[in-house]
Amino acid sequence: MTTTIIGFPRLGEFRELKFETEKYFRNEIAADELQSFAKNLRKKHWQLVQEAGITEIPSNDFSFYDNTLDTAVLFNIIPKKVKDLAFDELEEYFALARGYQGAKGDVHALPMKKWFNTNYHYLVPQFEKTTTIQLNTTKIFDEFIEAKELGILTRPVILGPFTLLKLGQYHDGTSSQDFATQLLTVYQEVFTKLAALGAEWIQLDEPSLVLDLSQEDKALFINLYETLLANKAGLNVLLQTYFGDIRDIYGEVITLPFDGIGLDFIEGKESLALVTKTPFPAEKRLFAGVVNGKNIWKNNYITTLDLLAKLPKQTTLTTSCSLLHVPYSVENEVFPDTIKQHFAFAKEKLTELVDLDTCNQQALAENKQIFEQERIVPNKELQANIAHLNETDFVRLPAFSEREAQQTPLLNLPTLPTTTIGSFPQTKEVKLTRSKFKRGEITKETYDSFVAQKIDDCLAFQEEIGLDVLVHGEFERNDMVEFFGEALDGYVFSKNAWVQSYGTRGVKPPIIWGDISRSKPITVQWSTYAQSKTDKIVKGMLTGPVTILNWSFPREDITIQESTYQLALAIQEEVLDLEANGIRIIQIDEAALREKLPLRQTDWHTEYLDWAIPAFRLVHSKVQPETQIHTHMCYSEFEDIIQAIDDMDADVISFEASRSNLSLLDALNRNHFKTQVGPGVYDIHSPRIPSVEEIKDTINKVLAKIPTEKVWINPDCGLKTRGEKETYASLENLVQAAKQVRKELADD
Ligand code: GLN
Ligand code: ZN
Repeated sequence: MTTTIIGFPRLGEFRELKFETEKYFRNEIAADELQSFAKNLRKKHWQLVQEAGITEIPSNDFSFYDNTLDTAVLFNIIPKKVKDLAFDELEEYFALARGYQGAKGDVHALPMKKWFNTNYHYLVPQFEKTTTIQLNTTKIFDEFIEAKELGILTRPVILGPFTLLKLGQYHDGTSSQDFATQLLTVYQEVFTKLAALGAEWIQLDEPSLVLDLSQEDKALFINLYETLLANKAGLNVLLQTYFGDIRDIYGEVITLPFDGIGLDFIEGKESLALVTKTPFPAEKRLFAGVVNGKNIWKNNYITTLDLLAKLPKQTTLTTSCSLLHVPYSVENEVFPDTIKQHFAFAKEKLTELVDLDTCNQQALAENKQIFEQERIVPNKELQANIAHLNETDFVRLPAFSEREAQQTPLLNLPTLPTTTIGSFPQTKEVKLTRSKFKRGEITKETYDSFVAQKIDDCLAFQEEIGLDVLVHGEFERNDMVEFFGEALDGYVFSKNAWVQSYGTRGVKPPIIWGDISRSKPITVQWSTYAQSKTDKIVKGMLTGPVTILNWSFPREDITIQESTYQLALAIQEEVLDLEANGIRIIQIDEAALREKLPLRQTDWHTEYLDWAIPAFRLVHSKVQPETQIHTHMCYSEFEDIIQAIDDMDADVISFEASRSNLSLLDALNRNHFKTQVGPGVYDIHSPRIPSVEEIKDTINKVLAKIPTEKVWINPDCGLKTRGEKETYASLENLVQAAKQVRKELADD
């Protein structure tokens, strides 16, 4: 058999590419220096993959920012506004990726979206009437040649035409149909050129095939590929899918003249059934994604070999998706061996493919032994508690409207109450002081008095400008998930397990190692401290179980539902402690609720919402009717799951809506959304200071759709990434705007 991968992480072992690229952004190095750095990095990665024993190696999986952007740029799918400016190639590329403000003009970055069900983000290609599709760059060819000169004959990878068209946004009345023919011509040119350079295979990534496909989608795919495959220029074409199975189009796909088809046997629940029911054609090669491209755990060889025994003989072993979504190597971690032996990151996954391919007996034996051991001592009591949860544990009583009637007079807030989402600017000073404390350079007393002073100042500012519900500012927290992870039992933390999130940005999710429990209060100290300093109400501030789970590396020996319930019980204890200590409003953030929503709509409820929403309800079901529960979500894209959001049964929800709130407000209206809402009235992702008038305008738009007594006024997310100056000015304007609108309402 043969082995391959779909792609390799490109930021480098210690995120070298990030740091080098950011130097280039700051003009500290020239473009050619960055290019030659990248060239060396590609060489290192190809050789590493080769030395691990992988037989077929991809190229063009490298990217300075994003592969979808690379494909758009390759085909000249570049907005005219940008094209018209006198950029050189790399400058133009980064202008598209990050925006540009300078001597050559003013360019907004392309919109960025979540890449399927990952935490990676791609740049959305923009098709315009003036878009002329043609070959525009040579990256794919250059990188093929580069590898060839190293003696490595690679398989160039490119996003396929179907997914490219599906992900694009269309302007000036255009649609995907308008570009299909032109697009096929350039794909064909790429085939011809690669064949002339000596390539034998090309990989076309078509992850959009794992979504629910309509008849039109299927027709589009089939039309595109019937034409494209009619002239392959002598290349073998691999159709690569991932993040699920292709149940809607498998039958058609196997009759098209592809030479190889890549299927995901990890997330593709039906992949095995598909290839067994309608046998995979003998003249094609199956690329079987059997090593998980998203998790950090070792592959269970026995299970995988069982699966492989059911697959056709002409199978190439590969990963379930690009290794882009996992960290680089376990070698760079300092975990004790008892922990380390369970992990496999990108580099180790290469070895797994080779072990499985060669049936390496020693490796099989070692693997078997690891999976036979008891990895952790299970928390039997916790498991029993979860098993015994019953319906009442998920229901807060009395019902929403009765609680609302009790809370309103008790809290005694003005109409259109103003508040913030929780964090205040994390200045250099805040971060520096925290790291000094972590390194042991300052005592706990010194650190605590620093945090106390920050809280005092933050409260004083909020009182001074007249916000109604105050926050303590979250100065003691590094990150909304890591902070709770560190305080809970059951987590471990890596040193270097970074995963690319977008561009040069990485995230280092904490790892859920065992059963989760809370041994002591986490936030009570600072919340009660803040409350003791003011007569106004200070909101307690927690991260919800679904978000903590979604931004961690989950376990696989128990379901993510089970881990989420464990988290929910731990956060429930925290909620009850806050309440017992006099905190009257508690916000439980579910910023990442939408993150793990299944790709197929048919799975939304049964596979996710049916337990994720109850997990949130579990957290607050036991509080008193007078305690007001808030939640916050970062995506305004919840129109399609609006009922589920209402079913979280929070008293108030704030969300990101400052840019495109209108359609969501309509949806809230249509669905008789019961929860009180704080649609963000200004965008915190930009340093701009919104004027009083601007905010009033937004508030009035909200009031046109939502009953006044349901509306809260707040920014659209936490303020920790913002500077102090713009934050203060923006919040002052927010309070002024709310006051003026209140007055206008009273005068009416
Ligand atoms: N309470 C958090 C904060 O204000 C929420 C952050 C988020 O939504 N991502 O920082
Ligand atoms: Zn947010």
